[in-house]
Amino acid sequence: MSLRSTNIAKIRGGDFDVLIVGGGINGAVSAAALASRGARVAMVDRGDFAGFTSMQSSNLVWGGFKYLENYEIPLVRHLCMSRNRLIKAYPANLKEIRFLAALDEHSPYKPWFAGLGSTAYWAIGNCFTKPPKVYSRERLHKAEPVIDMDGVQGGIEYSDAYVVDNDSRFVFGFVRGALNVGAACANYVELTNATRDSRGWSAELTDTDTGDTFTCKARVIVNAAGPFVDDLNTQLGIESTHQIVFSKGIHLIVPRIVSNEKVLAFFDDTERLFYVIPMGSRSVIGTTDERVVDPVTQVDEEDRDFLLEQINKRLDLPKPLTPDDIISTRCGVRPLVVERTDNSHTETDWTSLSRKHALEMDPADSFITIFGGKITDCLNIGEEVCEAAIELGVRLDKDRKDWYGEPPKATRDEFFRQARLMGLDKLRKRANFETLSTRLWRRYGMRAFAMLEAIRDDPSMSDEIIEGAEYVRVELFYAAKTEMITKLDDFLRRRSKIALILGRGILEDADGLREACQLLFGEDADRRFVEYFAADPLAQAAGDPSAAA
Ligand SMILES: Cc1cc2nc3c(=O)[nH]c(=O)nc-3n(C[C@H](O)[C@H](O)[C@H](O)COP(=O)(O)OP(=O)(O)OC[C@H]3O[C@@H](n4cnc5c(N)ncnc54)[C@H](O)[C@@H]3O)c2cc1C
Repeated sequence: MSLRSTNIAKIRGGDFDVLIVGGGINGAVSAAALASRGARVAMVDRGDFAGFTSMQSSNLVWGGFKYLENYEIPLVRHLCMSRNRLIKAYPANLKEIRFLAALDEHSPYKPWFAGLGSTAYWAIGNCFTKPPKVYSRERLHKAEPVIDMDGVQGGIEYSDAYVVDNDSRFVFGFVRGALNVGAACANYVELTNATRDSRGWSAELTDTDTGDTFTCKARVIVNAAGPFVDDLNTQLGIESTHQIVFSKGIHLIVPRIVSNEKVLAFFDDTERLFYVIPMGSRSVIGTTDERVVDPVTQVDEEDRDFLLEQINKRLDLPKPLTPDDIISTRCGVRPLVVERTDNSHTETDWTSLSRKHALEMDPADSFITIFGGKITDCLNIGEEVCEAAIELGVRLDKDRKDWYGEPPKATRDEFFRQARLMGLDKLRKRANFETLSTRLWRRYGMRAFAMLEAIRDDPSMSDEIIEGAEYVRVELFYAAKTEMITKLDDFLRRRSKIALILGRGILEDADGLREACQLLFGEDADRRFVEYFAADPLAQAAGDPSAAA
């Protein structure tokens, strides 16, 4: 029986303390936190885990330097503390990274003033990162020659952090953590209806892959449906004082255009910050911030051309970037929380809307809704959901803070010792600034020990399955058993970032992909392969549930 079937079997007819609807970052941390404290937890997502907004972020874990513009100092302080806590807990997965901001005539600030701001930002974050710097025009050019210096007055450099692999892989770490402590989690399962009586909730669920329907019971429901929280609340008759509005953002992934391992930051023609973010052998350009009413969006030509025009103006590239250089795209909506009675968001500057989250609890209905949130803030959300569940009568064990974070340093040192003794990194040359041992440890932690053993027994387990994929065969064996990969897109786009860095054209002809399908899906391999390439690429990239239709 596959991992998914086992979990669906547990959910079917089950009786849980908490049913979590949505397996993005908010649902995943809620499941990991609650289950680690002894709650009986079920979590379902109608698509893949992190298959909607949580695979479309900028991969940044940050205190929100730009929110200082709106004097949101308590929010910046809160996010800086969340960032620092995450960096400490995930030293391999989250890395401090320098942001190098070039300030030209579109910048609202002179370099000296931006320098003051970055020092304040650093201090608000408890001076946890490396200190900021101010650059003269000449020093900036020397530090990053690819910046087009036309109109640039100088720059600043400051630190935040980024998710080295991918946001969705980071989210899956929490899903895996929840499974490890007994939660029942299933992707491609939709909550279609739920009714409540004096004994609690009865939920109706549909397997969106097979069409099968089943039910379960739960004392409390957590609505972690991201951009769809309001829809679900309306459907279940839950009233709330908050609601969600949507801000669309896109990213374009192109071949690496900056040699430094730094994020380049620029103000676009509308004075909005955008970035060039490193992603291994690729650069990610983004993002945009556009008000939309429909949460299901796609990259359109206007978005794409705007970003390309902005970046071409600000970089001195051997050849300007064109649509042909785009390997893949990301597109999503930020779920932003506003008071239901407050209509100011319809009149005020859209980009100045706060990025806070709000948790609402409905004691009469035993229902919790998570509005908004950020990957940066995820540990706080996990803890807040536990507190709310306790208030709704769910008994939880003491929080031992063991539901997040990487294994201790001694275990890490032992892993690298074993890898060194077997000459792992001699078997494979460094790919994109890192060794295979670094990569395996980051992605799998404790489970990477078993991978060393498999490679010792069969060295071909350390072969890359597709050239340039940054993914070796042993990972595939592991993924097939333990990562609940149901469709090919789950593997290519979310458990790995192969689809982002290689693009569909290369993938379609790659021999290794057929082998991967065989291992992941067995007799279903051909069907899953055809299904993936039949989907509309832009809709698929945006996580649109109708992409495969
Ligand atoms: C362009 C962009 C850039 C961003 N950059 C950053 C950044 O750099 N750093 C940062 O910290 N944050 C960033 N964010 C914000 C962050 O990505 C989101 O706030 C976060 O991912 C939202 O997570 P979520 O779990 O609330 O929603 P989602 O990830 O959307 O998860 C909700 C899930 O609920 C499921 N669902 C809905 N209805 C049902 C149902 N009835 N039954 C079952 N499942 C259901 C959906 O399928 C979906 O998977 C960015 C966002 C965007 C769009």
